[in-house]
Amino acid sequence: MSTLPPCPKCNSEYTYEDGTQLICPECAHEWSATESADAGDDVKVIKDSVGNVLQDGDTITVIKDLKVKGSSLVVKVGTKVKGIRLVDGDHDIDCKIDGIGAMKLKSEFVRKV
Ligand SMILES: [Zn+2]
Repeated sequence: MSTLPPCPKCNSEYTYEDGTQLICPECAHEWSATESADAGDDVKVIKDSVGNVLQDGDTITVIKDLKVKGSSLVVKVGTKVKGIRLVDGDHDIDCKIDGIGAMKLKSEFVRKV
């Protein structure tokens, strides 16, 4: 059995291939098979300071002292942070640090445990 993607318009599972095109017999929608394959590349890979791929829920340690914006607090080197959440933006890690609270970190300043 082939595993063709469902129709992007009507979600029909009865799509079939015609050359490089995929065709839906139910709504007559046609689209390019290569286009839909490329769509998977949108997922952004976030890596730590040494190149480990980070995922939601990972535990990391901070590799340099980081000042907390708008306060006199500092996140010290070696601070362990559990259950990170990856987000879009300049600071790509959302997390909660004991004694400090919710804050955002840059992946280049952390290391996966
Ligand atoms: Zn369809």
